[in-house]
Amino acid sequence: MAGLAITPVAITPEAEAQTLAAQRRRAPPARDVARLPLVLLDPGHGGTDPGAIGTNGTQEKRITLPLAFELKRMLEVGGRCRVAMTRTSDVFVPLARRVEIARTREAALLLSIHADAMPAGQSHSLRGASVYTVSETATDSLAAALARRENQADQAGGLRLPSVSPEVQRILLSLMRQETRAGSERLARLAVNALDGEVALLNQPLRRAQFVVLKAPDVPAALVECGFLSNPQDEALLRRADHRAKVAAALTEAVHGFIGRRSLA
Ligand SMILES: [Zn+2]
Repeated sequence: MAGLAITPVAITPEAEAQTLAAQRRRAPPARDVARLPLVLLDPGHGGTDPGAIGTNGTQEKRITLPLAFELKRMLEVGGRCRVAMTRTSDVFVPLARRVEIARTREAALLLSIHADAMPAGQSHSLRGASVYTVSETATDSLAAALARRENQADQAGGLRLPSVSPEVQRILLSLMRQETRAGSERLARLAVNALDGEVALLNQPLRRAQFVVLKAPDVPAALVECGFLSNPQDEALLRRADHRAKVAAALTEAVHGFIGRRSLA
């Protein structure tokens, strides 16, 4: 909600909330690079948190960072958006901080990059990419377990809302969430469609789980699990730059589809 001017006029909370939501929807004209939508890429894990560990020892954090860099490069070549990253080196960034970066920088979208692994002792046959949006109820027990693992790093940060009455805050939040949820679903669908045919997909690749990093109420967000490090075939592929470039190209297409054809003209 950063950047919203709250006018102290005696109007109903509903009217106030609707006006603010309308102001939010009117995007400023893109006149120069600074006006291009900001895409925030979030390479999962880092530093003391290696993320999932592959069958042959590959650490998730070492896959997500180069994949995000490749995606950043491709998006910058496209010239339709600015790109920022929640981390650009092997450092630990708390999940709440990642959400905060998306919100304070007013990102047009957040794309979190991960690679999954089944817990030790469970089947190594499961493979393929999947895309998650946030939900209060997980798609299935696999999704729920995954979200638990990804959220273990820390807890969600608090929300910053403008200084209006609690009632207005509640309405604003609800409007924001509705709009953001619709955006997140669209982003995730675009990502699955772009990945389909390019890389192996998990059954039911469009999934929902309670990911902390996707919980900004005002930034559409999706989390891509690029494959299973517990599957030797996926692990070998994710270690290869040409395979990561394939994933990045598909995600570039999805991001372009999401932000539309805004240009510098
Ligand atoms: Zn992860």
